[in-house]
Amino acid sequence: MRDNKIKIALLGATGSIGTQALDIISEHNDLFEVVLLSAHHNKELLHEQCLRFNPKFAVLTGPQFQQQKPSIGNPSITTTYYAQEDLLSLIVDPDVDLVLNSLVGFAGFHPTYTALKNNKKVALANKESLVVGGAIIKEVLSQTSGTLVPIDSEHSAMLQSLVGEDKDCIEEIIITASGGPFRNLSLEEMAHVTIEQALNHPNWSMGAKITIDSATMMNKGLEIIEAHWLFDIPIQKITPIVHPESIIHSMVTYIDGSTKAQLGPPDMKVPILYALSYPNRLDLHSSRMDWGKMHNLHFEPVDPKRFPCIQLAIDSVSLHVGGPAILNAANEIAVAHFLEGKIKYIDIPKIIEKSLNQISFNQSLDVESLMALDAETRDYARTICQHGSI
Ligand code: NDP
Ligand code: MG
Repeated sequence: MRDNKIKIALLGATGSIGTQALDIISEHNDLFEVVLLSAHHNKELLHEQCLRFNPKFAVLTGPQFQQQKPSIGNPSITTTYYAQEDLLSLIVDPDVDLVLNSLVGFAGFHPTYTALKNNKKVALANKESLVVGGAIIKEVLSQTSGTLVPIDSEHSAMLQSLVGEDKDCIEEIIITASGGPFRNLSLEEMAHVTIEQALNHPNWSMGAKITIDSATMMNKGLEIIEAHWLFDIPIQKITPIVHPESIIHSMVTYIDGSTKAQLGPPDMKVPILYALSYPNRLDLHSSRMDWGKMHNLHFEPVDPKRFPCIQLAIDSVSLHVGGPAILNAANEIAVAHFLEGKIKYIDIPKIIEKSLNQISFNQSLDVESLMALDAETRDYARTICQHGSI
């Protein structure tokens, strides 16, 4: 007989969100159970996690494992698979109630789409899913009983501020941004920043890609697109504001001038747990705000000259239906090259802008055309990164 625990497929278990999600699942192991864990390269950590959580399935998607097929977890309990396609077929297993997608980048799109198409509940950290294919995801949501709950802290704050409200009464969504490590740097200083400096986020400890996105503020641009699709709000009604303390995670202003916000210490476990328990709340052993000691919360506008990525993201939406997918693919390639020391930090927006100007897209957006557009943009962006024609 099936027990009442919520059975979770955790994609990207070895990452920053994935490991925190596992901590939460073990804190509430009377409510949640892991049935699938996936990783890309980190087979050692996946092995440890499988020994600890005994999932039915493990998936190791890195191409190098397809031949060697390393043993993961306890083989009498866990069956291990080695291909991206396996991930897609296993998340629709009847034993999976909820897919927690904490993959990074475009690789997360297909699992989100497949899970929703098969009527699963998705707790979504992988913002790129909505950035590249928001229109496709929205259509699937309207045709199936699949549901989507955000994990991104800003979107969790928006969701929490929207509970009990009428969508037509929203005047503006204010999405907060820490400003990242280069908030106070001049354009001249930005020309010389190092990989280590860019990876040193003041408030959050996250995976490398999102940490660089936070430094360029592309992360906020991606999140504006994410909010646009998630809450069906026009881009023009979503305003980014720099709030260096990362205490207010986002706000919603209503037509009567009232603003609702969600506040708390910067801790991703809060929105991860809310996505798993939504619309209810569960207890969490995490730090609390000491409001008696709280002195100041600061706010400042985003400077588009020093952080051009945010405007590129906003503009990509009105460019054409494939704009955000081009933006995302070019950004992923540029960030990867920056992390390998092959391009400069200030080259990242230039590569994205060139890609948006160069690549045209006159089709309707479906899964196939999206895959092709992503691949074409990656090829183009890789060429300009590698041949120094930035
Ligand atoms: P990490 O880089 O820390 O983790 C990514 C996970 O995905 C790892 O398990 C990694 O496996 C796996 N992975 C990487 N590439 C692939 C691929 N091509 N195919 C399949 N699996 C892959 O990322 P984060 O946890 O920081 O971020 C995950 C997502 O959540 C991103 O979309 C990010 O924007 C979003 N997010 C993250 C926040 C955070 O605090 N970290 C906050 C809000 C949103 P392996 O370890 O084996 O390489
Ligand atoms: Mg966020």
